[in-house]
Amino acid sequence: MQRRKFLTTSGALISALPLMRLKPFNKDFFMGDEVVKINIGKINCTIFRDLMFKYLAKDFFINANEDELKQAEIKYNINPDNIPSPFIAVLLQYDDKKILIDTGVGFLDEPLIFRGESYVFKGRLQQLLQQENIKKEDITDVIVTHFHPDHIGGICKADGNLIFPNAQFHIHEDEWNYWHTSQSDNQPALFKYFIEKNITPLKNQKLNLFKGEFADPLTGITAIKAEGHTPGQVALNIHSDNEHLLYISDAFLHPLHIEHTDWQTNYDLDYDKAKQSRIKLLELAYKNNMLVNAFHFNFPGLGRIDKTGNNWAWNYQ
Ligand SMILES: [Zn+2]
Repeated sequence: MQRRKFLTTSGALISALPLMRLKPFNKDFFMGDEVVKINIGKINCTIFRDLMFKYLAKDFFINANEDELKQAEIKYNINPDNIPSPFIAVLLQYDDKKILIDTGVGFLDEPLIFRGESYVFKGRLQQLLQQENIKKEDITDVIVTHFHPDHIGGICKADGNLIFPNAQFHIHEDEWNYWHTSQSDNQPALFKYFIEKNITPLKNQKLNLFKGEFADPLTGITAIKAEGHTPGQVALNIHSDNEHLLYISDAFLHPLHIEHTDWQTNYDLDYDKAKQSRIKLLELAYKNNMLVNAFHFNFPGLGRIDKTGNNWAWNYQ
């Protein structure tokens, strides 16, 4: 009896393991470690790995039950002192459009010394665009999903000029307003430095501030308000010919935030709203069987959402 019970349980466990469902894309899918190309209907999508970064479990899962976290670390082979995580940017090409989603952390020749701390930011995005024969002048639009350094560092050069001089910039109004009023006074100085350098100058440029729960800043792209991580973060539903790619930005920083939508991170500003946004995006992706692109998951961060009972799960694709 006991043995039968064990077999049933272990069978259920094995079928729940994400590795068992790993299924490679077609052979042309991987274009090297830093550039991945897929098509969503008529939209050509190129995912770039700008940089690899390291996070800590104590920042990613601040309220996790200790035992549950230990089990998860074993199950997913997580080193709590070193959770590798990419920064990405995505280029969408269709008709005469070249749309960049987020801009990486930027490239600085020298380490950035900020209040006694040294930061090395050598983002690869500009080099990778060049490698793909994309000129900076050809970028028609840039969508910035929120204002954290890893998403905005590649907007302006050191001299203050725009890296993509012809682009129109698309940003949710709530994100703009939060970071340009006293509401953000207590935010880390480094974040504000990046915003002053990269975002504030956009007010004199081609800037489209969109608003509301849903907006369509460009054909084939629906911005979905996904606040919590920041007040005006958006996820993007990229759609063409009934195919979808849901770019979830930082609504989830790790696949464990899909299994545990209430596990909070040190990088989220409003935990309740972050949880609501997570559930909203999971429902949307699951019901429509959308391909999902997660900024901070293992590069290129593509996968789909599964649901068993009330339990969500992530499957890399
Ligand atoms: Zn981020």
